[in-house]
Amino acid sequence: MAERFAVGAFNANNMEMVQAIIETAQEERAPVILQVSQGAIRYAGLDYAVGLVKIAANQVDVPVVLHLDHGTSFEQNVLCLRAGFTSLMFDGSKLPYEENVAITRKVCEIAHIVGIPVEAELGRVLQSTDGVTLEEVEAAMTDPDQAKQFIELTGADSLAVAVGSVHAMKSRQADLDISRIEAIRQQAGVPLVLHGSSGVKHESVLEAIEHGICKVNVATYLNQAFVRGMRDGFDKHPDEVDPRKYLSISRENIKEAVREKVRLFGSNERIDSGGGFKSPPRQYRSVELGHAEE
Ligand SMILES: [Zn+2]
Repeated sequence: MAERFAVGAFNANNMEMVQAIIETAQEERAPVILQVSQGAIRYAGLDYAVGLVKIAANQVDVPVVLHLDHGTSFEQNVLCLRAGFTSLMFDGSKLPYEENVAITRKVCEIAHIVGIPVEAELGRVLQSTDGVTLEEVEAAMTDPDQAKQFIELTGADSLAVAVGSVHAMKSRQADLDISRIEAIRQQAGVPLVLHGSSGVKHESVLEAIEHGICKVNVATYLNQAFVRGMRDGFDKHPDEVDPRKYLSISRENIKEAVREKVRLFGSNERIDSGGGFKSPPRQYRSVELGHAEE
């Protein structure tokens, strides 16, 4: 937060994605957050998620966090804590405010005993698949004064904010409400998290990081890169029966996508050869904008 860069939080659904994300973080000397969504937990199971990430993280010396994305309940957070997650999230944004406060607080109480941080959500980052309007996005935005109270009451370590992005957008169209981000940062005083980044213009992401966004979630953009690799593989080798021929193209695509985002967020070249943060820190604005403009 002090150095005004953001750590990429990349959603992984399978072994190839875990490998690509962590290998790229190592090559870029970037701290990295690998996160699993509710869909990924249903698809792969909690134990596979933890096992895969542990194996990959043990092969590198940059810091790797395993984070629960949009944890649905107190119980699920406890299960993930026991399974070995090193960062949790409780998303009570669909609940009445008081219930969101109460459950977030309970999750923080147990997680903090073992030094695990908790992300919470206030306001609502909507789903593009629900066909949302601009008015609905604005009505669901995080209120800065309420954010201050929410952090005081819950003890949450970081806050997912609704500031103009929408989940699962397939192209970069959205502009974020930067003055709202600045106001929330001043009121809440904790690192802020941007969800739905795949649909946000690059300039807007950069400005958001400048004003308090410290973790940027990337899911849809990686899924698109993965599937594009499979399609290219089918086109190029229509008679191939070895799935590795397709999946290795997808894995390379994920590496490129992660590299682009890590550089955009300014988290590359942050970690020294001993695995700690470089001191003095490197300047942020030396990053080049991503090359994979669509
Ligand atoms: Zn999200």
